[in-house]
Amino acid sequence: MLSLGIAQAGFDSCLVARRLLYLWLIMTHLTVPISAQDLDGAKRQVREAIAAGAEMLELRTDYLEALDAVSVVALIAETRDAGRGRIPAIVTCRDPREGGAKPYPDELRILVLLKAVEAGADFVDLEYANFLRPEIGHTIRACLATRPRSRLILSAHDFRGRFRDIGGLHREIIQTCPIAIPKLVYTAAHINDCFGAFDLLHETQGDRIVLCMGESGLISRILAKKLGSLVTFASVDEQAATAPGQLTVGKLKGLYHQDSIDAQTELFGVIADPVGHSLSPTIHNACFADKGMNRLYLPLLVQGGQKEFDVFLDNVLTRPWLDFRGFSVTIPHKHSALEYVRRNGGFVEPLADEIGAANTLIVARASSPWEHGQDGRATNKEPRVSACNTDYAGALDAITQGMGIERAGLRGVPVAVVGAGGVSRAIVAGLTDAGVKVTIYNRTVKRAEELATEFHCQAAGLDELSRLDAKLLINCTSIGMHPHVDATPVPAEYLKPDMAVFDTVYNPAETLLLRQAKEKGARTIDGIAMFVNQAAAQFHLFTGQTANAGLMRDVVIRSA
Ligand code: NAP
Repeated sequence: MLSLGIAQAGFDSCLVARRLLYLWLIMTHLTVPISAQDLDGAKRQVREAIAAGAEMLELRTDYLEALDAVSVVALIAETRDAGRGRIPAIVTCRDPREGGAKPYPDELRILVLLKAVEAGADFVDLEYANFLRPEIGHTIRACLATRPRSRLILSAHDFRGRFRDIGGLHREIIQTCPIAIPKLVYTAAHINDCFGAFDLLHETQGDRIVLCMGESGLISRILAKKLGSLVTFASVDEQAATAPGQLTVGKLKGLYHQDSIDAQTELFGVIADPVGHSLSPTIHNACFADKGMNRLYLPLLVQGGQKEFDVFLDNVLTRPWLDFRGFSVTIPHKHSALEYVRRNGGFVEPLADEIGAANTLIVARASSPWEHGQDGRATNKEPRVSACNTDYAGALDAITQGMGIERAGLRGVPVAVVGAGGVSRAIVAGLTDAGVKVTIYNRTVKRAEELATEFHCQAAGLDELSRLDAKLLINCTSIGMHPHVDATPVPAEYLKPDMAVFDTVYNPAETLLLRQAKEKGARTIDGIAMFVNQAAAQFHLFTGQTANAGLMRDVVIRSA
């Protein structure tokens, strides 16, 4: 159907025709909304969008200050003359009741769509609620009947939350107007709200656009291509976004490798709250690309506690067709991750069990003996997830590499650990397991004592650092981290030349503590080494292959 449209267009250049064919054949079109307030600005945005790699444009004519049909026709012409061949365009004049920018009257908005069809727009987008009004529905149908090249998108938006029955709404639109492309867009208040959109895409065929708005809906924009939504929207820059949670073209293509995603792409991600600052998507996606793997790593914002975490993992595991294969887990879910796997009888790595936290979950392949119900969802309660902790091994490897010794060489070494939080816990567990003599120093002494009791080591307050007598000093607090780069957890006078000093803080790579330790002639180990090691260990668990650790380190340094 789509390729016929191309043939009819009759373009004379073979090159242009081939490019057009490519654009039509790819399932999901990376679409950039044009949202300038005047015609010149809109034309400029068209050129910028095409240069950035847009595969389709959405002309949001409701953003124009002085809207008239002549301007819209001129803008459609611009999409054809703006270089790089012809770019398909959707013409939208959104009703303010569904997110339109300006309160233009119904008559003008419908006139714009009719003129757009006459001018050969590939798609026009009309609100389904307005299409149901006989005077509008008949006019649009009659116009489209004379110009079958233009296709109708019937859209519904819910900015407050999920549709009551998204599947029913999709069916209703198709039954009311079988030639229309349903577009259903709603706000996801939580990542768990996205699964309704994914199910609809999985269970239906034909052209349809299904997306979730908001920060929690971000993954629906990235996964649109895997799941076959006709369109995903992205802006040229953050200021030009026309909906909450819209990504930029640069991020979608550069960070999330939009051009390589297909139905077979396997999924990974970091479960966290907040997640926006995480470097994990950048380093894992760079490493997947480096190995030519059809895998994608997502930021997974899971808000809430154990309950919401459990619902998220249940959602993922009952939908094996999503192809989730593994997760990194960080604040605040490391304990919830362990609990989930324990409760479901999955494998828990013994030291992760002892630490009480998992930072890595591995999902067994769907070929495991899971049964599938009529809806294609897995029903068997066979454990499919294993829990591991790569934090302690990442830290221990950073220490032994930095000190130039084997793990066995750590036995009996006196080590001072400053801090008694999550990272300290993982490192103390790893160190005591390796036979190290640990003293934990912490601001809240009680916390240090509790940790020390659990792992059979010593505890002290920060004031006792003046009597520091350790061969290895490890900072496990956030002191010295950006933006407080002038702070240090241990005064310079307590540092000694025969010490090795390891700072788990990795932003900046060289903290004040490390700088002063270097000045004293001590050996230093930065937090990037630990970060890269734990990520490389995860990569190995995810893929069975050795990560390009040099690439990981470069990516972290460039991004931090
Ligand atoms: P956490 O559980 O919140 O623990 C924070 C620790 O820092 C606690 O011991 C806390 O003492 C102490 N602390 C915080 N602010 C302090 C201050 N102003 N003065 C004295 N002590 C202070 O955090 P976490 O998960 O363990 O993370 C700690 C740090 O590790 C992070 O900030 C990050 O830089 C680093 N990290 C590195 C990696 C890596 O791969 N390199 C990975 C994760 C984290 P109280 O108990 O008295 O509150």
